[in-house]
Amino acid sequence: MTHILVVEDEPSLCQLLVNNLSFEGYSVEAVEDGVPALAAHTARAADLIVLDLMLPQLDGFEVLRTLRDRRDHVPVLLLTARGEEADRVKGLSLGADDYLVKPFSVLELVARVKAILRRTRPVDRPTLLRSGPFRFNLPRLEARREGRPLELTPREFRLLEILISHAGRTHSRKELLQLAWEPDARPSARTVDVHIANLRRKLGEELGSPWITTVGGEGYRWITPVEPEPGGAASNG
Ligand code: CA
Repeated sequence: MTHILVVEDEPSLCQLLVNNLSFEGYSVEAVEDGVPALAAHTARAADLIVLDLMLPQLDGFEVLRTLRDRRDHVPVLLLTARGEEADRVKGLSLGADDYLVKPFSVLELVARVKAILRRTRPVDRPTLLRSGPFRFNLPRLEARREGRPLELTPREFRLLEILISHAGRTHSRKELLQLAWEPDARPSARTVDVHIANLRRKLGEELGSPWITTVGGEGYRWITPVEPEPGGAASNG
């Protein structure tokens, strides 16, 4: 599920954005300032950030600058005050993907969010990936080890997709439950462990190489670097 982080300190506007983006089917998290925004994005990487410029402590410019300094190219939609032309120019030069001037229609915001995601996703998310002995074709739900197809259930593939899409980052059981199970399903954290155990077995971890590490009782992490398949187009494979 596409995850959007909303950074907005006006409670009523923030709630309006959260309600409308949630209604569109996005997973939405909201914070009121820059520091919690960076923390939230680190804890769970957003696919897009709606970022108000004027925030109480760490402003939108600083958040954007910090992200780009970290070579984090998460799409950012800036919210700016009316008439602040210089702010918009500065925001775009810092690497914002688009901006909206307040007051704006929430439908306009939703349309911009969709347009940015359409524009940025194919680049951000290559469909053919490799990692160690594995090749993954995400649209086809295919995983191979040294050319041999792995027989994964859709749920196992979804867990794998989440882990390899943010290789090196720890995903808590709670986060995996939110991302890989339907909202009305209420499996326990133990369910995640069982599926991960099955996934590990199918990946061939009994051969001695851990592909998925367990992190301090908190969650799971894919440790081997993941790269786009060189020259890989979605039609390959
Ligand atoms: Ca503000």
